Parts: sequence; C-alpha cells; structure tokens
Amino acid sequence: MKTKKKNIALRLIVLGCCCVILVAGWLLLKRLEGEKPALMLELPSGYLNLSQTISVTVSDENSGLRRIWIGLVKDKKEIVLLDKNFPAAGFFDGGKIHKATFKIKIEPKEIGITDGKAILRMVVRDFSWRKWWRGNRIYIEKDVTIDTKPPQIDLLTRVHNLSQGGAGLVIFRISEPCMAQGVYVGENYFPGHAGYFQDPNVIIAFFALNYKQGPDTKVFVKVTDYAGNGGRIGFPHHFKRKAFKKDVIKISDRFLNWKMSEFDVEMPLDSKTPIDKFLKVNRDIRKANYRQITRLVVKTDNIIYWDGPFGRLPKSARKAGFAEHRKYKYKGPVIDEQVHLGIDLASVAHSPVPASNKGKVVFAGSIGIYGKTVLLDHGFGLFSMYAHLSAVNVSEGQIVAKGEIISRTGSTGMAGGDHLHFGMLVNDTFVNPVEWWDAVWIKNNITAKIEAVSDLKRKGSSHK
Ligand SMILES: [Zn+2]
Repeated sequence: MKTKKKNIALRLIVLGCCCVILVAGWLLLKRLEGEKPALMLELPSGYLNLSQTISVTVSDENSGLRRIWIGLVKDKKEIVLLDKNFPAAGFFDGGKIHKATFKIKIEPKEIGITDGKAILRMVVRDFSWRKWWRGNRIYIEKDVTIDTKPPQIDLLTRVHNLSQGGAGLVIFRISEPCMAQGVYVGENYFPGHAGYFQDPNVIIAFFALNYKQGPDTKVFVKVTDYAGNGGRIGFPHHFKRKAFKKDVIKISDRFLNWKMSEFDVEMPLDSKTPIDKFLKVNRDIRKANYRQITRLVVKTDNIIYWDGPFGRLPKSARKAGFAEHRKYKYKGPVIDEQVHLGIDLASVAHSPVPASNKGKVVFAGSIGIYGKTVLLDHGFGLFSMYAHLSAVNVSEGQIVAKGEIISRTGSTGMAGGDHLHFGMLVNDTFVNPVEWWDAVWIKNNITAKIEAVSDLKRKGSSHK
C-alpha cells in the first residue's frame, strides 16, 4: 500500500515538474520573442518647411512597445523631438501598448535648426527579454532637407494687356526649383513650365482671361517649392472689356429628326420628345464634352512647336464668332441659351482642313456635340481644335506641320451644315482665335516678350 502511495506522489511530483518546465518554457518563448517593432513614417516629401507635422505610427504585436525616441540631427547637433516610455502590463505580459501614433510638429527655426540637409533618427524598443532585457530594437534614419525660405519670384515681363476671351504671356524667374508654378486668373489656374529657356528656373506661362471674366479679375503668379513653402506676386496688367455678338438659332423639326438619332447611337436618351433630347445634348452632353477636353489638355509638351500667325481655313466665310451668345428658339419661344466658344468657318463641303500651325495631335476622334474632332498641342498649354469634321486624316501622337491637311470639313455633331468649328485653348480656357491669326498681336503679346527675355539672358551670360 505504502509503495503504491509513494508511486502516486512521485508521479504527481514529476507531472508537477513537467508542468512547471512547460510553463517556464512557454513563458521564455513568449518573453524572448525576436520580432522587431514596426515603424511607419508619414512625411509628404523629403522636406521640412517652416512648420511641418510628421506622423509616426509604431506597433509591436508580441511583447508590446517599451520606448520610442525621435531626434533631428543637423551639423552634429541632436534635437530630441520625442522620447516616451510606454507602461508595462506585468511580468508575464510585457507592454500594455501595442500600437501608437504620434503627430509631431517640427518648427526648425524654433528649435535652432538652420536650412540644409539633416537626418531624422527614430528608435523604437519593445518589451521582449532579448538583448539582456533591453528588447528588440528598430532603428531608422531618414534624410531630410530643411527648407524654411519661401521661393522668390522675379518678374521678367512688364506689360500684360488682355481682352475678355484673350490670351497673354508672363515670364518669371524663381529662386529655386518648385513643384508647382503658375498663374491664377480668378479661379482659373494656368501652370507655368520650365524648359524653354536654358535656365530651368525661368518659367514661361501662357494664361487667359475667359470671355466672362471682368477687368477687375484678380491675377497673380503663385509658386510652391518642394518643402511646401509658397510665394506669390501680382503683376502689372490691363484687362479690357469686349463686346460679343448675340445670335438666335431656330431649331427645326428637320434638324431634330436628323441630328438626335446620331446622339441616340452614342447614348440612349430615353423615350422623350426630340426637343427634350436636344436640350439634354445641348446642356448635359455639352458640359461632359468640355470636361473631356479639360482632361485632354492636361498633358502638354514643353516645346513651342508653332511659328508665326496661325492659319485660317482657306477661302472660307465666318459664320459665327467667338463667345457669341446664342438663344435657341423652337416654334417661337426661347428654349435654351449657350455661348459659342470657337469660330465657325464655311467653305465648300468637305473642304480640306490644314493644321493652323505646327503641333502634336493629342486627340483624333468623336466628342459629342463637336462630332469628329482633332485637337493639336502647340506646346506650353496652347491648343487648337477642329470640329464637325467629316474625315480625320491624322492619329494621336503624330506631329503635323503648319498647313498639313489633317482632315475635311463636315457636319458631324451638332452642326446644321458643313463647316469647320475652329477653337483655341490656353490650358482649359477657350480663347479668341482671332488673336492667334494676327501676326501683329502675336509679335506684341508673345514673341517680342520671349525675345526680350532671351536677349536679357544672353547679355547676362556674356558678362560671366
Ligand atoms: Zn461652332
């Protein structure tokens, strides 16, 4: 009996020991985990400006976060931005916190750091027993550039006279390369571009006053450097009012029966009356077509392809002008009003259409109310548009010479007869093509300015 009891006791002791060993082993495995904490830094660019907030998210799934340290190192000087110890949960559990995010506002001037290259140093430890209880560590260094100075803008053109619906050019030099530089005319933004002049800091920006913007529209150059510092400057300008014609267009049943079926193919317009369809096309599709055009003009080449005045459709008569206000009448009453943002030119049917100037084909296809359309990029945001074509002879990406036949006139889209709708755009603003047909206007407003800046730069470099 005694030996039996002894045996049971012995077995219990062995079992107990095994349990202790197992628990201890499990604990050691858990507390000696070797996985490093994770760190995620959010910094919009590699730059720190006057006041920059960075976001750091740290996590450690296993033993939890023990400590985070972040410093900014510049010229061997180390400024502590964050130093925090996290609480422990208990001997067996490690840390209480497994994930944390810190938003750190860095104001270099306030902490005595000057502009230039610096290092953002980040260290995070966890509650593991590794490294003699110091825990697993993640150590990250990120190169940053401190830039607290706003970019300076030096205006290189002096005279900027624009009419409503007209275009202009401003040239300026920036003190450092920028991520954005351009002209604001009211709400409209016209990106400027480097690449014309050898100096990459000399920016050329075509801009426009749209047909309805008044003489008191605010205009200024705005630049933003890579650190996010902004600079802006107004410039001398004179904006003139311009009177545009008014016109009445009578919509006939013949026109509706002819045209609306064309749009039915493109998009089903429910089973409404022809006039409902017309209104949908003239309003909604017109707007959608404009949005499509604004997307097409986003990309432009940093080359001035064109030379001299733009060409007009040969032997043609003007049928409608730029920014004409149109009232549409159907069986008497006015049913709609729109503004015509190109010039209609009529010649004999299916006349060959030459490229008005040298450019790159950025679109050749159909655009709703415009029918078959060609869009040419002449560089630096200047475009010409040819609409209602019957045939298109070019394809996207092709460079066409001035006068090269790119298509034939027609009556596709919302055209009641064979003609060419010729439009010009500066960025996404339709401008008056008459200016671009005029050699004197081009010389005074565009080319003379470019030449003056080129001369200035040539003189400047000869002194070196
Ligand atoms: Zn037209």
